[in-house]
Amino acid sequence: MRVVKTINALREEITAVKRKQQSIGFVPTMGYLHEGHMSLIEEARRQHDIVVLSIFVNPLQFGPNEDLERYPRDFVRDENIAKELGVDLLFYPDTKEMYPADPSMTIHVTEGVNVLCGKSRPGHFDGVTTVVMKLFMLVQPDQAYFGQKDAQQVAIITNMVDMFNIPVEVIPCPTVREEDGLAKSSRNVYLTDEERQEAPLIYQVLTQARSLIKEGELSPNEIVQFVKKELNSLQHAEMDYVELLTYPKLMPVTEKDKTILLAVAYTFKHARLIDNIIVSKGE
Ligand code: AMP
Repeated sequence: MRVVKTINALREEITAVKRKQQSIGFVPTMGYLHEGHMSLIEEARRQHDIVVLSIFVNPLQFGPNEDLERYPRDFVRDENIAKELGVDLLFYPDTKEMYPADPSMTIHVTEGVNVLCGKSRPGHFDGVTTVVMKLFMLVQPDQAYFGQKDAQQVAIITNMVDMFNIPVEVIPCPTVREEDGLAKSSRNVYLTDEERQEAPLIYQVLTQARSLIKEGELSPNEIVQFVKKELNSLQHAEMDYVELLTYPKLMPVTEKDKTILLAVAYTFKHARLIDNIIVSKGE
């Protein structure tokens, strides 16, 4: 596995790969790798000649009062995991390399951001799309792998690829969970023991709601109320949002919509957790 920290070195590697007409699968991450990231890497490994992994904690996607400084990092551990999973090229730039100066332009997302995390984290998806666009330009992958845990991110990046005619295929991958159902997240390490004990309730309630949505007896609003009521028993977390939307358009749900996203965000003392399910009605 080659580790490259500069854009010049990355370009050289990519040029060599392209010359050999090898296909590239790309997994962009912020590091502190867990089984969720690993599943994306494994999928890319199955599909492509060359797997490129990036690790970059992107300041542009953090708000002023968010956890940029304390976001967990462990490069040596990540490097070993990447090596074991057969990553060919690990891109690990520092902030100066990605943003030598304050960015003079960024992508501004106007659709699909007035809901969910876009609403509670203003500017977040402008930061995400800007860095992903830069990474796509540098890595020039055939396919890029993203976790469905960040469903809004998948929807917005898919839109970006369509909007700018980027020749990259976005591959959504299923959410990987702990045995008790809690979605794997780099931020789970910040849960206290008590918080960790009650956090699996989030997915339990989403699973109950899945049945209710499929049964089709309750209105969208009643489903949302059900989830809020059940999750009200979280002692250590505050609700950020519970929303039911069409997927991937992220619009209000009507009777005839078949693919529905139920997404939640809850803030614990030092970790804001998100989770979601996508329900296909009539299957
Ligand atoms: P992050 O490092 O949190 O920016 O995540 C990098 C990629 O891993 C994103 O595409 C995430 O959606 C994905 N990811 C994070 N957690 C999980 C998970 N539990 N299951 C599947 N993919 C995940």
